[in-house]
Amino acid sequence: MQITECVSANSVVTELQGKDRHDVLRELVELLAANGHVPDYETALEHVLERESLESTCIGQGLAIPHARVAGLSNMAVAFGRSRPGIDFNALDGFPAHLVFLLLYPPKDAAKHLSFLSELSTLAVRHNLVARLMEAPDAGTILRVLADADAEHEASIARGAQQSVAGASEQRADEGGLVNPVIALLARLQRFEQHKAAIAGEPIPDALDEKILNIKSLVPKRHLDHFYKLMDRRGLAVVPVERGACQGCHMQFSSAFNQEISNPRRIFNCPSCRRFLFIV
Ligand SMILES: [Zn+2]
Repeated sequence: MQITECVSANSVVTELQGKDRHDVLRELVELLAANGHVPDYETALEHVLERESLESTCIGQGLAIPHARVAGLSNMAVAFGRSRPGIDFNALDGFPAHLVFLLLYPPKDAAKHLSFLSELSTLAVRHNLVARLMEAPDAGTILRVLADADAEHEASIARGAQQSVAGASEQRADEGGLVNPVIALLARLQRFEQHKAAIAGEPIPDALDEKILNIKSLVPKRHLDHFYKLMDRRGLAVVPVERGACQGCHMQFSSAFNQEISNPRRIFNCPSCRRFLFIV
């Protein structure tokens, strides 16, 4: 997932005007609407606030990633805002949010949105992203910091080929990741495999094949085998859970099972269609 793929200079606010969570969310949704990314501003804001009321999207370290699925968007849209005084986002760690990435995505981009969340939370922890974004003097520098972070993230995924995934997965969950790292890798793999299928018949770019090989080397074989079986038979292997239901087969889960799935230390498959699940 390339963060810079989704954030453009006109979607960056270096000094947010809003003083509370509601104002800031409105400000960022307005910005995306003004840039022509969001056809229905009111509905988009409603979805964002609804999602935020379920659970704080502040992941700690001053970073908040409010997000919502919005029908009618053509692509995932991201706005970034910075607040030096900080905004109370009702974070678990009690600290205010200084950096806010707002993600709005169409239903088809649920897996892409997951890669974005996962990459940002990893970068925040591992690459000192928060401090670097706080220091950036202008929107151009903010974009450069994000581009550098993207490149570092790609490089660390490649290096990760030498590490054991089991070790890495526990470590990342401890560091406050939102998403199980194996699920995050499988969601990336699914994106790359879909891209590969979409260009079938054309020569496959080396970079794409390389990314696929890297991920394959990181995911334990039993998950990988299951993943490819699902891709073959069902077209999609990693699907979101929304409003408590599997989006692959629409099975409605119990609230206890929904609670369990949100644990980023574990990997869950839908009891009905067996697809890998992640919570939106
Ligand atoms: Zn299912």
